[in-house]
Amino acid sequence: MQANRSRDTRPELAVRSAVFARGLRYRVAVRPVRAVRRSADLVFTRARVAVFLDGCFWHGCPEHFHLPATNTDYWGPKIAANASRDAETDRLLAAQGWLVLRFWEHTLALEAATQIEGAVRERLVALRRTEDSPLAHHADDASEQPG
Ligand SMILES: [Zn+2]
Repeated sequence: MQANRSRDTRPELAVRSAVFARGLRYRVAVRPVRAVRRSADLVFTRARVAVFLDGCFWHGCPEHFHLPATNTDYWGPKIAANASRDAETDRLLAAQGWLVLRFWEHTLALEAATQIEGAVRERLVALRRTEDSPLAHHADDASEQPG
């Protein structure tokens, strides 16, 4: 049911390679949450970050979307439905503890990669903090330096 989400478009590949170049690894076009039937373009499983690269036409970019002159009765509701589906996807994933990042296809790949990297690294740091035992930290803090 994702006929409108074309895979491996040039903007998508550019973002993927820019993110990869920063040393981040991700899965491509998979469901972040198995029970939620939505695939994200880049999925960072451990950090729980789902990235969607939205086509300016299909997802109704405010800068670039123009309703086609013909079949407006079809396209208007179609694009509106895509946008509300996107919003629903965001809610469903957020409810499962995921951070959702969306970029328009017109966003510069390096700009998107910077934001993605920042979010993923931040979430990984936060994760490590919660995984570390607080007791271990306190023991470290309290340990006396020899001499
Ligand atoms: Zn756009």
